[in-house]
Amino acid sequence: MSPDDFEICFYGVRGSLPAPARGEEVEAQIARALLRASECGVRFASSDDALRWLRESLPFHERSHYGGDTTCFLVRCGPRRVIIDAGTGIRRAGADLMGELVSSGSLDVDLLFTHMHLDHVVGFPFFAPLFAPRDRLAVTLRLHGGSAWANDLQRVLSQTVSAPLFPIELDKLSHEAAAIEYEFIYDRLRRELGDPPGLELYARRLHHPNETYGYRLEHAGRRIVIATDTEPYAAPDRALNDLADSADVLYVDAQFDRDQYEGSYDGLSRVGWGHGYAEWCGQYAHQVGARLVILGHHDPAAGNQRIYELGERARAYHPNVVVAFDGLRVRVTETEIIALSAGDGGTDVCLRRTGAQT
Ligand SMILES: [Zn+2]
Ligand SMILES: [Zn+2]
Repeated sequence: MSPDDFEICFYGVRGSLPAPARGEEVEAQIARALLRASECGVRFASSDDALRWLRESLPFHERSHYGGDTTCFLVRCGPRRVIIDAGTGIRRAGADLMGELVSSGSLDVDLLFTHMHLDHVVGFPFFAPLFAPRDRLAVTLRLHGGSAWANDLQRVLSQTVSAPLFPIELDKLSHEAAAIEYEFIYDRLRRELGDPPGLELYARRLHHPNETYGYRLEHAGRRIVIATDTEPYAAPDRALNDLADSADVLYVDAQFDRDQYEGSYDGLSRVGWGHGYAEWCGQYAHQVGARLVILGHHDPAAGNQRIYELGERARAYHPNVVVAFDGLRVRVTETEIIALSAGDGGTDVCLRRTGAQT
C-alpha cells in the first residue's frame, strides 16, 4: 500500500446493542454446511481444504456471521491511525494496535466519536492502549466529539471509566498511562488529523437524536464518508449531501427496510428513531455518486438471512453494495477500491475509481 492509500477495517457493525451469535445458530449453520458437503460428495483432507470449499461453495451469510460488536472502525493512512467510535468493537481494534505499539514503542491515535449514544462509547474502557504504561510505551490519544450535550465528551468518558461502572478511574490514569487530549467537533468543522497531520476531516451534523456527526476523511484525493446513525426523513438532508458527494466509500445506516421504517408491517413507524433503511441507502448512494456503499448499523434482532436480504434491497438501486461485517477491510488506492474478506478469504469487490488516471 502507498502511504497515501486508505485502509478502513471494520471491527463493529452492529447497531444499538451487541448481538453475539448464539451457539444453536452456529450449530444449525454447521449442520447445513455439512449436509451441503455430503450432497456434493466432497471429502476433505484437512481443515484448510474444508475452509476453502466453504468459502468457494457457500455465500457469506450461509457460512459466516456479520458480527455482533457495536460500531468501531479503524482507518490507516500511512503512519496515521484514526478510530471512529468506541463501540464494543474497539476491544479488538485496541488488541491489534497493541501489536504495533509494542513493536514501535509509540502510538498516536485520533478517536472520533460520532455521538455519545451507549452503543458508540461502551467499549472505550476496554481499549487496551489506554492503559499502556507511560514509562515504557508512548500513547497519545486525541478524543474528538461534539460539545453541545449537557454532559460533554470528557465528562461522559470519565463517568464511563470510573466507579461504579468501571474499577479504574480515567482521571487517575492520566499521569501513568496514555496521554489524552480532547478536541471538540462542530458542524462544518475542518481539521487535519494524524501525526504527521495531513488527513483532512470534515464534519457535518446528521439527522439523529442528540448531537450526531457524519465524518468525511480525505487524503490525496481519496474520500471515505461515515454516516452511521442517520435517517432520511422526507426531505433531502443538505448536510449529508455536502458530506457524501462523490465519496469513494460511503458507510451508511441500514438498520431497517422501507416498510419497517414507514411502519407498514406493524403500524409502528420508525421515523424519528435516527436510523435509515436499505432501499434508501442504495438510492441515496446512487444519487450522490458514491462509488461503493457499505451498509451497517445492523439491527441487533436481525439474523444473517435478514441482513443479507437488506443488502439485496439496496442492490436494486446501486451496483456496488457491500454489507458490512466484522473483519471487513476496504482499501482505497489511487486507481482502485478493494473490499477484502475476513482472514484470507480473498477479494470480494474490486472497482476502478472514477477519475483514476491509469
Ligand atoms: Zn448507534
Ligand atoms: Zn445513536
